[in-house]
Amino acid sequence: MTRLRIALQGTVQGVGFRPFVYRLATDLRLTGWVRNTPAGVLLEVEGSPEPIKQFQASLDNQKPANCFIYSSEVTVLDPAGYTAFEIRESLAGEKSAVVLPDLATCPACRAELFDSANRRYRYPFINCTHCGPRFSIIESLPYDRPNTSMKRFQMCPACRSEYENPADRRFHAQPNACPVCGPWLELWRRDGSKAAEREEALAGAARAIREGRILALKGIGGFQLLVDARNDKAVLRLRELKDREEKPFALMYPSLARAESDCQVSDLERQLLLSPAAPIVLLIAKAAAISKHVAPRNPYLGVMLPYSPLHHLIMADLDFPVVATSGNAKDEPICTDECEALERLNGFVDLFLVHNRPVVRPVDDSVVRTLGGREAVMRRARGYAPLPVTLPDGEGSVLGVGAHLKNTVALAVGRQVFVSQHLGDLETPEARKGFEDAVAALQDLYETQPAGIGCDAHPDYESTRFAKAAGLPVTEVQHHYAHVLACMAENDLTSPVLGVSWDGTGYGLDGTVWGGEFLEVNDSSVARLAHLETFPLPGSEIAVREPRRSALGLLYRVFGDGAFEMTELPAVASFSAADRRLLKTVLAKGINCPLTSSAGRLFDGVAALAGLRQVSTFEGQAAMELEFACNGFESDESYPIEVREPVGGAERPILIDWKPLVRHVLADSGSCVPVGIIAVRFHNALCEAIVAIAKRAGQSRVVLTGGCFQNRYLTERAIRRLAQEGFRPYWHQRIPPNDGGISLGQVVAVSRAVSRESEP
Ligand code: ZN
Ligand code: ZN
Ligand code: FE
Repeated sequence: MTRLRIALQGTVQGVGFRPFVYRLATDLRLTGWVRNTPAGVLLEVEGSPEPIKQFQASLDNQKPANCFIYSSEVTVLDPAGYTAFEIRESLAGEKSAVVLPDLATCPACRAELFDSANRRYRYPFINCTHCGPRFSIIESLPYDRPNTSMKRFQMCPACRSEYENPADRRFHAQPNACPVCGPWLELWRRDGSKAAEREEALAGAARAIREGRILALKGIGGFQLLVDARNDKAVLRLRELKDREEKPFALMYPSLARAESDCQVSDLERQLLLSPAAPIVLLIAKAAAISKHVAPRNPYLGVMLPYSPLHHLIMADLDFPVVATSGNAKDEPICTDECEALERLNGFVDLFLVHNRPVVRPVDDSVVRTLGGREAVMRRARGYAPLPVTLPDGEGSVLGVGAHLKNTVALAVGRQVFVSQHLGDLETPEARKGFEDAVAALQDLYETQPAGIGCDAHPDYESTRFAKAAGLPVTEVQHHYAHVLACMAENDLTSPVLGVSWDGTGYGLDGTVWGGEFLEVNDSSVARLAHLETFPLPGSEIAVREPRRSALGLLYRVFGDGAFEMTELPAVASFSAADRRLLKTVLAKGINCPLTSSAGRLFDGVAALAGLRQVSTFEGQAAMELEFACNGFESDESYPIEVREPVGGAERPILIDWKPLVRHVLADSGSCVPVGIIAVRFHNALCEAIVAIAKRAGQSRVVLTGGCFQNRYLTERAIRRLAQEGFRPYWHQRIPPNDGGISLGQVVAVSRAVSRESEP
């Protein structure tokens, strides 16, 4: 038995949609309910997998004629035990204005775009009520043209009559426009002078890409940088100019067929590529005919299809895949304005393809992958934000300001939590301004002043400082607890659960850096049941970039000073003799060597010990390469890992001792065991540790969360092993497992704290 919750946005009201759903569900003997919401329809169906699958298919291909679904969010949930299917009344008091995300060009508009008889033939801003920009052009609610960045364009008589005709596909399509009255393209040189406009601008831009130049393109939610993905020199030049050594670039393919010839694409992945959200989907590459510098040492490619009319035109022209990466400088938000882009992107762009429809807020391309056979959003922005997550209850308004990396902010309004688009790492003044703008914009949009704020417990995060300066009651929420609450919220789970919260770094409550945590969450408490044994991180922050430092910390914990003699190990040998002497002192005296229980750093350390990588060029690289090393190796073998009861009669925390594991990694790499086998045994050992702690916790529901659970091998194996042992595993679907989910968890934590206080 399984239950699906499906949130549909679109023209699904007043077209007989609910009766249609009712008939469909009852014909298939499914139970559940359907009701209208401010933006569409929310429904739940429960039953066995086969009829549920049929239901999903029929929902799409048998729906009433006048009905169009803009976006559909599916969440897999535990059965609720419904006994019948019913049509429910809409909930009173729900905010009537829900902001839709930006939607990919619909098939009807795409057909008109390439129809030479149509008055919008090759018009790069064609849209209708079924598609086009939304979140990226809204200044305030209600969603009417004067409240969007289209207000500067006067509709011509032809557009106006479509806009006013209830029978037209463009009835009240707020961004409605045509070549006569709407925005147009210009091609700018680096000095800001105009090289061409309209059709010639497009042709000039395509020519530039074909010639290997770097084009900045003003898209839906801001600028993208485009280069020919087949051209080594062009891709390398973009890497150099963007100061981006090896972090993979996303690609845009001209068509699904072309993407399928370069990558393995499952049914679900195909659906995601073609969905109105049109995200970047992580796909396993086949022998792709693109530059090896697009995604070095990475078996995946991040692939998207054209999602705006402008993209359709340029990609149809080019007919080859292009790198399409965010138009920003390192650690800055993407540029939205063409004049700003001229300044901020000038150093690494040859030409600018711009237009005069303002982008109100930066919205990056979203990134998804499949995990355990379901969609899992890794970066949630265009096409997804700001669709709400619905909580079982809640009142008033609460703000969550997120963490530091991959920041998002969240605003709860009653039961609805609006999670912002991905805002990025708060490392630069520009990023911090972007963060503050996003907080202000969410509050303005929903006309809500929060009564309280949830922030991370880390005192030095910019987001924490912001929260504490806001003059409102602030609740500090421990990082890993926030991860667990976010995962519980989107899976509609109530306590008690066991939360497995694994990531790179989070502020611990005992003076150490946490990241390999097992939290028991009950109605009124949260307790650290177990964690990975700690080890020192010489150099603290530097260790995030240098996996060899994590390796040294692990070795030091096992062998003490003997670690420095192990120069046969690449991790030790990669330090100079002088560095080793210094590190020896540093470790002995504990100078800038915080202790950590981080699973992410354990991944780093093992990757370095296995000889995979000593220094990373981007966050998480070593851990990713350890995951990738598993590809093609299958085994249930696992390294030993010891679970140690707490000493001195204390009840917790239980310690997971990885020392036997490290010894085996050393033995295996010393005897030339392939790194893939080492990687598999390592991942398997971690999954056994999860099972072992789950058994001790005696909690049937186990929540997998934190950045480590972006790792497909780890997540899917943990799911499988937990299920085999009779547990119910839960993982992320609509909200990222990484720190992009923290703001949602903070909001939930504040609501939980408030409801506890109001109890007698
Ligand atoms: Zn359309
Ligand atoms: Zn017009
Ligand atoms: Fe985290």
